[in-house]
Amino acid sequence: MIPPLLSLLIAIGPLCNAEFVIKAYDDIYKFPIYGINDTLATTNTPGNKVTTPASKDECALSPDLVEEIRGYQETVDNIIEYIVNGDYKGRTYNILAELVDTFGPRMTGSGQLEAAIDWMLEKSHEEGLENVHTEDVAVPHWVRNNESAWMVLPRLHKLNMLGLGSSVGTPPEGIRAEVLVVKDFDDLEQNAHLAAGKIVVYNPPWVSYGETVQYRASGATRAAKVGAVASLIRTVGPFSINSPHTGHQYYGNASAKIPTACITVEDAAMMERIQKRGQKIEVLLTMGAMNYPDFISRNSIVEVEGLEWPDETVVVSGHLDSWDVGQGAMDDGGGAMISWNAAVVLHRLGLRPRRTLQAILWTGEEQGLIGGQAYFDKHSAKKEKYQMLMESDIGTFSPLGLAFSGNSEATCIVKEILKLLKSLNTTEVVSPMDGGPDIEVWQRAGVPTASLYNANEKYFWFHHSDGDTMSVEDPDTLDKCLALWTSFAYVAADITHKIPQIEVQQEGPRLTTSAP
Ligand SMILES: [Zn+2]
Repeated sequence: MIPPLLSLLIAIGPLCNAEFVIKAYDDIYKFPIYGINDTLATTNTPGNKVTTPASKDECALSPDLVEEIRGYQETVDNIIEYIVNGDYKGRTYNILAELVDTFGPRMTGSGQLEAAIDWMLEKSHEEGLENVHTEDVAVPHWVRNNESAWMVLPRLHKLNMLGLGSSVGTPPEGIRAEVLVVKDFDDLEQNAHLAAGKIVVYNPPWVSYGETVQYRASGATRAAKVGAVASLIRTVGPFSINSPHTGHQYYGNASAKIPTACITVEDAAMMERIQKRGQKIEVLLTMGAMNYPDFISRNSIVEVEGLEWPDETVVVSGHLDSWDVGQGAMDDGGGAMISWNAAVVLHRLGLRPRRTLQAILWTGEEQGLIGGQAYFDKHSAKKEKYQMLMESDIGTFSPLGLAFSGNSEATCIVKEILKLLKSLNTTEVVSPMDGGPDIEVWQRAGVPTASLYNANEKYFWFHHSDGDTMSVEDPDTLDKCLALWTSFAYVAADITHKIPQIEVQQEGPRLTTSAP
């Protein structure tokens, strides 16, 4: 996933200069709901946001609505049984494995992603899903090509590295320069007079993804401003076995664009130690990265059409694109597959809700939520027709419940529906939504949004690295995620009650915080 709200900056970035974007970035991460405090350590969501339980039972839903929701218990039990013990057991894992083993990682702009989209469409037709179609999206097209990094002084040492998305390349012979290791942006400013002509290595401590990812997002631009010729960041993650993690970076309208890549926690720490001993460090960085003109990719959409109000919609979604390393099984193959399989399960069980269930496989998420934004631009004029949007993009580990954004009545409805999932032990509701990057734009527009709340403490061990493979995924756990996802989406799509939206006067970067 892309860090929440970095997305917004990417979206508005072309309109702004780099200073604005970086300032805005700093401001956003000082924003209270994104603040870093001990609460984060006690939640299972290691992303940006401080999620808090939204489950103090102060709900006063009408008895009729509560009774209506409780009436779904048998249907939900049947869905769970079918997926967890019945004919569907293990299918989600198998389809995900077939997808990622066949096509590998699915970088936006690549033939593998487009072939994977075609394969999913074919599978959708085979399953008899309805209104199988795609919507074109123009996406950035960046290609890594060959790349390497060597520490050449004080000794020769190969650095495991991954260039960062949208980075420019180096000259063919590479860039060889002395290294300046800094802890953070303050450290960089204090040592700005030492940075000219050097390769800046950022070695910030891991605090949280939201806090630490800023060095990936704008490290190159900040280093270029003080005259650096390239920049390297350490892996944005809490854990490493000498593994670099890639991800998008952002130049804004910076006049100087310098190559930038990720190195490992171990190597960044080593270079900091060497620098402290007063020894000179030099690195040779060679990157063949290229930025090509935009490419037309596709959001893929399938439906189980609504029985009574087909123009009203519940969306379940995940992004089919991934980085070009590993297999993109966790980020976001798992989320994409529980969403697509939710439609298949309803179809196979003959469960047609009153509203349309739409499963969307986004494209271009990793390059700045391009697919999600394109869908919003195309459909948001009818936002009142959306009952809820859901996205799973922060792991499909053991499910716990949902992270949700909406007003207090909407939150109470979500809590009541999740009570039907007691047998799966997935009844928790935390707020605000985290891990639904492609649907955040709907959240900001006041539409109820939810993401999969799961025990994802290890998510950033694998994120955007060669370690993101099927070995991260577990068949039984995926079944439970699917059972939660399908059951909840079905009930939300079928209840007679319209889940309320929030009146939004002016859409801005501040996220909904009105959930109790
Ligand atoms: Zn993702």
